[in-house]
Amino acid sequence: MAPATNRRQFLQKTAMAAAALYSSRFAGPQGTSIPDVDPGPLDKAELRNLTSQIAGRVITADGPEYEAARLVFNRAFNQRPALIVRCAGPQDVARALEFAQRRSLPVAVRGGGHSRAGFSMCNGGMVIDLSNMKRVEVDSRMHIARAEAGALVRHLDQATQLAGLATTAGGCPNVGIAGFTLGGGEGTLMSKFGAACDNLLSAHVVTVDGRQVDASPSSNADLFWALRGGGGNFGVVTSFEYRLYPVNEILSGTITYPAHREHLHAFAKFVAEAPDELNVFAELLPSANGLRFLIHLRYIGSPQPGNDLIRPLRGPLQPLDDNVRKMTYLESQSAGFIPAPFAHFQTNLLLPLLTEPAVEALMVAINDAPAQFRVLIVPLYGAISRVNINDTAFALRQPGFEVDMLGAWNTPAERDGAVRWIANLRDKLRPMARGTYVNQLGETSAQLVRDAYGPNYPRLAEIKRKYDPANVLRLNQNITPA
Ligand SMILES: Cc1cc2nc3c(=O)[nH]c(=O)nc-3n(C[C@H](O)[C@H](O)[C@H](O)COP(=O)(O)OP(=O)(O)OC[C@H]3O[C@@H](n4cnc5c(N)ncnc54)[C@H](O)[C@@H]3O)c2cc1C
Repeated sequence: MAPATNRRQFLQKTAMAAAALYSSRFAGPQGTSIPDVDPGPLDKAELRNLTSQIAGRVITADGPEYEAARLVFNRAFNQRPALIVRCAGPQDVARALEFAQRRSLPVAVRGGGHSRAGFSMCNGGMVIDLSNMKRVEVDSRMHIARAEAGALVRHLDQATQLAGLATTAGGCPNVGIAGFTLGGGEGTLMSKFGAACDNLLSAHVVTVDGRQVDASPSSNADLFWALRGGGGNFGVVTSFEYRLYPVNEILSGTITYPAHREHLHAFAKFVAEAPDELNVFAELLPSANGLRFLIHLRYIGSPQPGNDLIRPLRGPLQPLDDNVRKMTYLESQSAGFIPAPFAHFQTNLLLPLLTEPAVEALMVAINDAPAQFRVLIVPLYGAISRVNINDTAFALRQPGFEVDMLGAWNTPAERDGAVRWIANLRDKLRPMARGTYVNQLGETSAQLVRDAYGPNYPRLAEIKRKYDPANVLRLNQNITPA
């Protein structure tokens, strides 16, 4: 990786040349271990040969699809891969992996392209793009969904809700199920049904040596364990099987308050008493009328007990707005957060408790924040916290509050201020924190990855050595082979 100062100079030049996209690989304040590699020009005959073996498409810089195909959700990243292999199935994935390794190309794997850290794109390497593989089949009798790895949260939700079923999925309909599930997968059903990875029944995987294997409790159980939270480190997953649950009408919506300390404390107190059926998370953000504190609620059950449970958040706390009402789970998923792509930096950490000093740090920070920021406070409790820490790779099993801090910018000039603000807040909270969630990290370091997996890290490193000893799949929150 180039030193930070050179990188910054490079970014400034790129920004002048590119009107809409503001930076190349954005390291985040802690840097990244990922080198930008120039593999040299690819041989035309080689490329033709690859194209002839692929049922999907091979997209190169001279093709009409290239500019759109290389964009990712986080517009802080503006990368130019040598080629994008848009796969039609597992065979294509195997061929792409073989080509990339023979040619020593870095490999990025793209599901829904929503990585906070821009991991699903690269400079000068190959992108294995699964976005055309998005079929979802639902077995409504067995309560199982089989989804190809390019499916987005909304594809999974739409298909399962047709049968009155659902499984834990993220709050943004455009997030890819692959990255989401492989990193753990937090959603509004997690307090009742666990994380997405807890509902994974099996996965079909192409390993870096081109084998197609199934991972489940009875087949390659070590790989199955690692896939449930360990990210894209162990192979390219081409499909997932999920356990589903009956979920129809729910009580859902948001209660809005001014951002005052007492609202945060009331929220922490409320969470401590919340049953599994009631999922809540909170958000601090700016508005035209001042800073706001939002509590988002989903009650999986009939409205009356739900309304009774949320009474303490209503009258006594004097909300500014309250749109909680009965709706289908699918409506509540689509009513959520559907942002257009934007340039941002986000990081996160897990606070065991929302203590007075933590609330104070948050309040001080938001009163001196850049124009575009957001702090999500996602409590982890209920079913997701009742799984033993070593039952899956996903290690955030103790109850607590995940704090996701995001700063965004429209121009390069705003970027440094936003990043600095996040870094300052993160550093203030860090002494009170333990652990971090890989899916909400826009930065990386060996230490952060170890923090994310805690006691599970050594086993993950062993499994990495077995399935990817040369660390071919390293554009991710990287677990290095033991
Ligand atoms: C707007 C927004 C909302 C979000 N909301 C939530 C939320 O509610 N809950 C939550 O838990 N997270 C949430 N996230 C975080 C999200 O879960 C992660 O960013 C996730 O990694 C995105 O998955 P993706 O497939 O879209 O991303 P990609 O960028 O395509 O991939 C992310 C990582 O997974 C790897 N990967 C992708 N597909 C495969 C595959 N098939 N096989 C192997 N590796 C693969 C990639 O190489 C990369 O390292 C959100 C992110 C955004 C930007």
